Amino acid sequence: MTAPTPAAPADSSRAPSSGAPTRVLVLNSGSSSVKYQLLDMEDGARLAAGLVERIGEETSRLAHTPLKEGGERRERTGPIADHAAALKAVAEELTADGLGLDSPELAAIGHRVVHGGLRFTEPTVIDDAVLAEIERLVPVAPLHNPANLVGIRTAMDLRPDLPQVAVFDTAFHTTMPESAARYAIDVETADAHRIRRYGFHGTSHAYVSRETARLLGKAPEEVNVIVLHLGNGASASAVRGGRCVDTSMGLTPLEGLVMGTRSGDIDPAVTFHLKRVAGMSEDEVDVLLNKRSGLIGLCGDNDMREIRRRVEEGDERAALAFDIYIHRLKKYIGAYYAVLGRVDAVAFTAGVGENAAAVREAAVAGLEELGLAVDADLNAVRSGGARIISPEYARVAVAVVPTDEELEIARQTFALVAPAP
Ligand code: ADP
Repeated sequence: MTAPTPAAPADSSRAPSSGAPTRVLVLNSGSSSVKYQLLDMEDGARLAAGLVERIGEETSRLAHTPLKEGGERRERTGPIADHAAALKAVAEELTADGLGLDSPELAAIGHRVVHGGLRFTEPTVIDDAVLAEIERLVPVAPLHNPANLVGIRTAMDLRPDLPQVAVFDTAFHTTMPESAARYAIDVETADAHRIRRYGFHGTSHAYVSRETARLLGKAPEEVNVIVLHLGNGASASAVRGGRCVDTSMGLTPLEGLVMGTRSGDIDPAVTFHLKRVAGMSEDEVDVLLNKRSGLIGLCGDNDMREIRRRVEEGDERAALAFDIYIHRLKKYIGAYYAVLGRVDAVAFTAGVGENAAAVREAAVAGLEELGLAVDADLNAVRSGGARIISPEYARVAVAVVPTDEELEIARQTFALVAPAP
């Protein structure tokens, strides 16, 4: 997820009844890391944020930033054995800032959960049945759901009395029609193994498509938006009237755009070929496509800043990697234009989308006939805010809309647990 940004208004949160708790702790638990933010939903203020990395190693690190005025970033290094120890350390840091997890002001804990399958179309208060269902989805999300579950169970042990809410990365995409969600493979086999396109980054696509509508001064129901979430992982989505109708990631986050280390779309027969002809094992192919492909596989770097620096210096491999990245992006813009029929805006978000003007310019170049263009001066402006970068005459707005998955998770969590006004 991208770095914390200053407080933004929490417009979708319910007005708190006086005295009711308004804080939400957002937890994003990975296999060896926990990212967190504490937000106050009364005004959307961010109170603290941090990250525990390398859990289970000797060199674990906790970086904690109190976001109240005058708060200074603190760091702890040294072994943190497991997620329980990590969360305990986070709780201690929050307590030191007067924001402890035992505070009566804490309304809920919101957990990012990567895979919610088809069952979870909305944020959900976690109970034993929900835990069991997230567990049942481990075979389709073997890297993510187990880590999310550890984070949830640890938080539940810490505050068993508090509502814990799961916000699913897949939920926003459950509105995709079957024509977009089904792979064209044998139906019985697909259904028996729950093979279909689920999509990911849904929290970001939901937030950014809504913020884009707001930027255009319209309601989400009124606009069709192509969202390009370009981080280290990257995905595109086609959103019609606030509902997702297609997205580029599939059964797993491997499908779609060229990413930092993932190949994105590829002929599945390449995997047979690698096994039969190159003698690679299943796991080796998995690692190749997920960790050693995409930008890093093409040119040895997965940071777009470094790639652009090399391109400027005339490095041919970096230039080819950039061109392949842009070519794929452009294909998805065209495809989703066709899927939507009418497009009101194309929104760029996440680390690359928000910061790499060269990517935005190249992705839209040559698409004037589709009503798409970027104004060079507007595109060059560096700003943390949502903004339109297309010239006034363009039929389709091109926008930069910073994503904020933590705020979206906090909003959805709070909306579920706050007493109705
Ligand atoms: P994720 O959450 O998927 O890890 P982010 O959304 O934080 O990813 O994006 C990380 C990526 O953003 C980096 O790998 C880097 O390529 C890119 N990035 C960050 N800042 C810039 C910048 N100023 N210019 C170009 N690319 C940038």
